[in-house]
Formats: sequence, structure tokens, C-alpha cells
Amino acid sequence: VDIEVVQETGSTNADLMSRLPLLQRPVLRVAVHQTAGRGRAGRPWLTVPGGMLTFSLAWHLPQAPQNLLGLPLAIGVALAECLNTLNQNVQLKWPNDILRDGKKLAGILLESAAASEGGTWIVAGIGLNLQVSDELEAQVGRALADAPWLAQMDRNLLLAQLLNALASALQQFAGHGFSAFLPRWNALHAYANQSVHILDHGQILHAGIALGVDLLGCLVLQTEQGQVNVLAGDVSLRPA
Ligand code: ATP
Repeated sequence: VDIEVVQETGSTNADLMSRLPLLQRPVLRVAVHQTAGRGRAGRPWLTVPGGMLTFSLAWHLPQAPQNLLGLPLAIGVALAECLNTLNQNVQLKWPNDILRDGKKLAGILLESAAASEGGTWIVAGIGLNLQVSDELEAQVGRALADAPWLAQMDRNLLLAQLLNALASALQQFAGHGFSAFLPRWNALHAYANQSVHILDHGQILHAGIALGVDLLGCLVLQTEQGQVNVLAGDVSLRPA
């Protein structure tokens, strides 16, 4: 893996996505500060300068597993388990957020593109809040988790631990897909058996009890009309 560390950039995911056709090897790109971080569907990901650990990893899958939908969830499992060894109360919010005490601690953004040599290039970006401020919370419009216990850690050591977890998860996913991660995801599910809404552009698409995820990485909801397996697409989950 080529490792690049930059002081400031717009978005490590955008940087790597724009270079994909030229990449020869996996690349890890770490930024001390991002000025134009992105979430899903181009939503902004904001930071306090120096208050976030942000990095993206680009790698090539020669044969795309049949179902890539579980990959961001598998990455979430690996990172949440790793964070839980450093502290507790870290859980997962479907589809791709890491929470602490119900507040968003980290986000995962997965992007991919077909490779000219065949297979698929994947870019996985992670933004982990180390420090938040009232101003940032006001901008984002909700309470955010910070992690003083992580902020105190040596950044390189923290990054190395997260990368170790990520690397073994990617290997496991390439071999066996999401199946090994499914019970681990459900064990960390922040809204297990709770009432939730699934929103599509602010409108309630489904309401029900969140049971967990299935083998495809869909959220399994018990609704009044029966069980619904919701594809991540561009929908968001909110506690009801
Ligand atoms: P949501 O978190 O609203 O359910 P989502 O899971 O789809 O949506 P993403 O699109 O992955 O979230 O991330 C972008 C969203 O994250 C933004 O809309 C914003 O609400 C929130 N956000 C932005 N910056 C931060 C941050 N530093 N920490 C936590 N959340 C943030």
C-alpha cells in the first residue's frame, strides 16, 4: 500500500476517486484536515480543523464479490469492534454510521468504479470525530459524539489499529462476503428492536421496528404490513 499524508485537502475520497484509472497499487490517503468532506449523496461532512481523523483507502478487487452492498457494513463492524477495544458504547447505525451513546462518532463512505483492467476499484473513506464544538454541532444540526479518549492517543497508533482491523475485514469480505459479519453487525446494532423511520428526502418511506440486517446488508423492518427488507440506496434512518 502506498501511504500519503497531506495537511489539507478537499476530500480524501474525491482525491482518490479522481485518480482511479491511474492507480497501480492500493493507496491510503490521510488528511489532517478536509475542507470539503462528503457523506452519501454528496451531503457535506464537516470538521473542526484538527478535530478529525480522516482517511481513505483505495484498492482493487479483481473479481467483484456478487454483493458489494454489505461491504460498508462489514467495514463498520471492523471499525466499531476496534473502537470498542479502546473504549465502550460504540454501536452501528444502518447503513454506514458509527455511534457512541447514540451520537454520530464516525461515518463511512464507500465509492467504487469499474476498473479498465477488469474488476472494481473501491474507495472507502472514514471520518472519525475526535473533537467537536458547539459551532460544528450547530452547523450539522444535531449532537455529535466526540472521543477525547481517542484524541489523546497518538494519531499514528490509532490509525494503525483501525487499518489493521480494516485490512483483515477486507480480506475476510473478499473470501466470504458479508456472512461472517452479519451476526457481528446485529450484535452492535444501535436501534435493535426500536421503532424507526426510514426517510427518503425527508419523507417517511417506512415505519417499523428495526430487527437487524440481512445477508444483503438490507435493514430488516417489522412494519404493520409485514416484514420489509430496505435497501440502503439513498435513505436515512431516524429513531421514531
Ligand atoms: P444521517 O446521518 O443523516 O442519517 P447518513 O447516514 O446518510 O445520514 P451521510 O450522508 O453518510 O449520513 O453523512 C452526511 C451527514 O452527516 C450530513 O448530512 C450531516 O448531517 C452529518 N455530518 C456532517 N458532518 C458530521 C460530523 N463531523 N460528524 C457527524 N455527522 C456529521
